[in-house]
Amino acid sequence: MVSVLSNGVTGRLAGWLFLAAGSTVGLSLFLPMPGTVNRAGTLALCAVGIGIGIAAIRAPWDDWPRSRTLLLVPVAFGMIAVGGLFVFEVVQYSYGIFWMLAFTWVGLGHPRWTSARIAPFAAVGFIIPIINFTDDWAVSIRTTAIVIPSAVLIGEVLAWISHHLEEAEKRDTAHIESQRVLLSASTTLAYQVDYDTASYLAARMSGELLGSAASMVFLAEDSGLKGIGSWPEPVEESLIDGPEVEDLLSAIREDRCMHLPADQASQIRDLMSVASMFIVPIRGAGDPIGAIALGFMDETHQLDEFELDIARTFATQVGLAFERVWATQSLLDDSLRDELTGVGNRRHVSALLGNGQPGDAIVMLDLDNFKEVNDTLGHSIGDEVLHAMGSYLRNALRDNDSVARYGGEEFLLLLRRAGSGGVAKAQELLEGWRRTNPVVTFSAGVAIHDISATPLGTVKKADAALYLAKSRGRNQVCSAMDSVAVA
Ligand code: GH3
Ligand code: MG
Ligand code: MG
Repeated sequence: MVSVLSNGVTGRLAGWLFLAAGSTVGLSLFLPMPGTVNRAGTLALCAVGIGIGIAAIRAPWDDWPRSRTLLLVPVAFGMIAVGGLFVFEVVQYSYGIFWMLAFTWVGLGHPRWTSARIAPFAAVGFIIPIINFTDDWAVSIRTTAIVIPSAVLIGEVLAWISHHLEEAEKRDTAHIESQRVLLSASTTLAYQVDYDTASYLAARMSGELLGSAASMVFLAEDSGLKGIGSWPEPVEESLIDGPEVEDLLSAIREDRCMHLPADQASQIRDLMSVASMFIVPIRGAGDPIGAIALGFMDETHQLDEFELDIARTFATQVGLAFERVWATQSLLDDSLRDELTGVGNRRHVSALLGNGQPGDAIVMLDLDNFKEVNDTLGHSIGDEVLHAMGSYLRNALRDNDSVARYGGEEFLLLLRRAGSGGVAKAQELLEGWRRTNPVVTFSAGVAIHDISATPLGTVKKADAALYLAKSRGRNQVCSAMDSVAVA
């Protein structure tokens, strides 16, 4: 464990202490003192202290391993002891303070238990000048037994405080990093317009944010939880409806996080192949939307309060992103849908024609004598017929095919790659419509789109075929070939 002070600060601090000690020793020569004091030795000690101090202040400690600053410890102990030998009669009442200072430095700049480990050497260094001066073992041992343990205590307390400060600093740094990732993840989500990408990103970024081994995103539905995104392995869109769902759904409704430990059966945890799992509810601006499942390989993994806060904040961002994507999608759908019939509107026709491929069949379909329906049964019945026609066409067509209201009582159908089968399909639609006992029949003209024609040109051909069907007595299907033959 490294102390809160860097190598450089610890080394330079030692340098300043040596400098101060050397200068103090030098200044002491100007104080009144007994003639027995070794003045030359004291002067030499002053010079050595100042020299080591300057060297230590300038040394490139940060380039060296951490433990190198400890090399200064024997030097310091040696100098204090030698200084004691020279001037003990001067400093006898304050001698211990130098050792206290040395241990203060050791505690501030070094790992816990360093002070305790060097205590025996300090005890030897401390006791020598005292014995030398007093020649009294009892006094020397008593003094050593008081001063050195006290100095070690100071060193260890400071090292312990340093250690905790460093832990706190590490935690703060990790928290700041989490907040930075949260901010960037939220920004990324805010730019998503596609629901599938947003679902995947929500799973991936929640995993990265909270260090999970796997993550899944679920939507809460009446029938269970629908998995819509997973990370790192893709999981097929799945509906979880096992016994755990009741608990999970109520946690989601109550906006409560849930921990599923290893010994509790869970379909979701098995799906993610993890040992333990956290469920974080997703809320948007309104109702609960679903949940993020965070899976961990460690059976006893816990999220602390800060991580839970981060998870919940991110889940809210996910909820808001989903709501925005849905709102945008629904506005887009509305802008392309005809309100009365529920099929595409004229704007949708343009989009469809822009996508027309050679081999697609275009069918123009027009209700027969529809004006009469309005005139005899009323406009609202006319509307009902149009609505029924829209529903009928939507249900009768394959997923790949499209239908849009071209105008009034006319519909345009795009039958993907139907080719010449388009006429038969239109005929089939007419027969199916007749079987619904409608108040009106319809006529249809079919043209197949080819490379040489523009989509609009093909529409014109289908229109001409429709015109032919009308002229032949309505309630029938004509192909563009027929209209060309007639012309
Ligand atoms: P044809 O067989 O030749 O197509 O005869 P038609 O009466 O269907 O054709 P016409 O163009 O003469 O009349 C179309 C009618 O469709 C006239 C219009 O009132 C009616 N119509 C157009 N849009 C709507 C609508 O949104 N609701 C209702 N109820 N009627 C509509
Ligand atoms: Mg008509
Ligand atoms: Mg018409």
